[in-house]
Amino acid sequence: MKNLALFCIVSLLTLSAAYSPLSDDTLKGIPDPGDDFNIKDGALLAPILRTRVSGTPGNAAVLQHFVDFFKTTLPEWRLEFQNSSATTPTSKGKKIPFINLIATRDPPGSQIGEVGRLALVAHYDSKLTPTGFIGATDSAAPCAMLLHTARSIDAALTKKWEAVAAEGSSQLEEPKGVQILLLDGEESFHSWTATDSLYGARALAEHWESSFHPPASTYRTPLDSIDLFVLLDLLGSSAPNVPSYFKTTHWAYKKMAAIEHRLRELRLFKSSANHPARVAKRKNKGLRAEGYFLVDSEKSDHDSAFMGGFVEDDHVPFMARGVDILHIIPSPFPRVWHEMTDDGKHLNMDVVEDWTRLVIAFVGEWMELDGFLDFKSARRADYTEKTEL
Ligand SMILES: [Zn+2]
Repeated sequence: MKNLALFCIVSLLTLSAAYSPLSDDTLKGIPDPGDDFNIKDGALLAPILRTRVSGTPGNAAVLQHFVDFFKTTLPEWRLEFQNSSATTPTSKGKKIPFINLIATRDPPGSQIGEVGRLALVAHYDSKLTPTGFIGATDSAAPCAMLLHTARSIDAALTKKWEAVAAEGSSQLEEPKGVQILLLDGEESFHSWTATDSLYGARALAEHWESSFHPPASTYRTPLDSIDLFVLLDLLGSSAPNVPSYFKTTHWAYKKMAAIEHRLRELRLFKSSANHPARVAKRKNKGLRAEGYFLVDSEKSDHDSAFMGGFVEDDHVPFMARGVDILHIIPSPFPRVWHEMTDDGKHLNMDVVEDWTRLVIAFVGEWMELDGFLDFKSARRADYTEKTEL
């Protein structure tokens, strides 16, 4: 019993150590995606804003875009494909392929089975109907957010792990990694049922459940290795209202909500009525009420009214296998949901950027990157290198 108690105390200490908040300067330095989120020709988002129904050339092109992005921009990330196939109610007996892309960055030299990971998840397929449906919030924009997030933390991860190695310290006794899951086949082809939806997520969860790490690993399977599964969906419309769905991860929700509060206080939230650019445009310069994205920050852990599994999404097969889920999806859904109007033009780009900034900061805190997320000097270094050439 004594050992168990000691173990619990150590675990608590580790958890709290993971949560030194980012400094104000770090929050201020989080890079904007800038033109890369331009819906017409931006490098990250524009290539996803097309029809990409599973098993079609559009789907393959978007997957290739992700692969090219990681291979050229983030070579340290390990890429894996997880393939499956299934007939669908509209495939006339033909098997449709579903390909999930898994991009992982673990500390150098770490053993498979020893790394706990923060998984950041979005689906990249689009819905078959209505014909020509783009799904900008569903989930092209969340995919682009994840690409930009990976890019924004990559150098800091390298620096942090180098610093830890240089110290020869034991900080990597509990190595932590980041994983981006870009899932295929979330949408139903005909109408949503347990078998006509979540094709990619179901295949991946099942596959990982039975992919065993070497005996005596800390984590038994890649599924066990997921410390938290953060699922982004239907993001990019104005004034999202995102509740805290699960009691078991309300603590993580509150961490993200606390970051939102700080970003708003620092006037870094572009969609806020109190952002300097908006205040400058109006006569009455007085502060206005903030319309928070994460509306349940004050909710008690003991509240009985968590919505739980009310919204079915890619987390379901993972949650059924015991994975902790933080589901970032608005309720109600955006007005454009599954309508032709869910396209690039109807995205609120300020909201898209705000979500991205929030996710980067959340990952930065989770990975304990304060002091390493030195965006300004990174940019200066780039500049110096270029001018020296
Ligand atoms: Zn959808």
